[in-house]
Amino acid sequence: MDEATTRRFGAVEAGGTKFVCAIGDETGAILAETRFPTTDPLTTLRNTIEFFRARHAEFGELAAIGVGAFGPIELDRESEQYGSVLHTPKPGWSGTDLLGPLACELGVPLGFDTDVTAAALAEHRWGAARDVSDLVYVTVGTGIGGGALVGGRPVHGLMHPEMGHLFPRRHALDVEFAGVCPFHGDCLEGLAAGPAIIARSGASLDRLAPESVQWEIEADYLGQLCANLVLMLSPQRIVLGGGVMNQERLYAPIRRRLHAWLGGYIGRPEVGGTIDGYVVAPGLGARAGILGALALALDAAPR
Ligand code: ZN
Repeated sequence: MDEATTRRFGAVEAGGTKFVCAIGDETGAILAETRFPTTDPLTTLRNTIEFFRARHAEFGELAAIGVGAFGPIELDRESEQYGSVLHTPKPGWSGTDLLGPLACELGVPLGFDTDVTAAALAEHRWGAARDVSDLVYVTVGTGIGGGALVGGRPVHGLMHPEMGHLFPRRHALDVEFAGVCPFHGDCLEGLAAGPAIIARSGASLDRLAPESVQWEIEADYLGQLCANLVLMLSPQRIVLGGGVMNQERLYAPIRRRLHAWLGGYIGRPEVGGTIDGYVVAPGLGARAGILGALALALDAAPR
């Protein structure tokens, strides 16, 4: 075995509804994995630590552990709150120190970023964006959130990009709906995430007939998001994942709406509305999250 397959890395996909813990190697192979519901912070972190402790005999010392977390989170290493969940609507989790207990109990280098930036790293390393350096990964599920790589590196800055709480122009057939975002009402997340679709139409997209106007409304809002991303970040690819995007037939109308919203201003064939290689599904599918955490571990490990 060469060195690339002998070092072991830990991965934690710290989601709002479930945690996935795994051990993998530098090729992206997952060698052990477990998942459990996200309950209170103490129990959830104890389960996480226990997973890695229980596998120490089999896999030995880990080179690093990567944590891809639901946000918002503190990524500023100079901050006393580095590694913590910031103000979140999820009960009991605001201010939770995610990294401290892991560092204390497991004693290995830790990588840390948002779950969506982690997914962007995984798609860049192993998935649908291997051939580009500037990309955005957006998840559309119970919420909408995005991460960006510029020059192959995650964008952080003030905090980290959010991308869900944007303010789209209303679709002409959706002027009455107030939206469901607890902060903004009719922001993009409040209009186009899974709970918004259910609140407006009474059902999730997969239960709605293909001719339902909900498909058109959803594609329009996500097309606006993609157009704004093109205009702000100039990504070479946009990867759209998450539960809502499991509906494969959404991609083509989103590409068409992206093209329409740009209004011919961006003269690149990639955003022409018919090319299917620009707005794409995750190459790693639902595995982008846990492989993203693994990618964070690879980047955090000593060379
Ligand atoms: Zn919002």
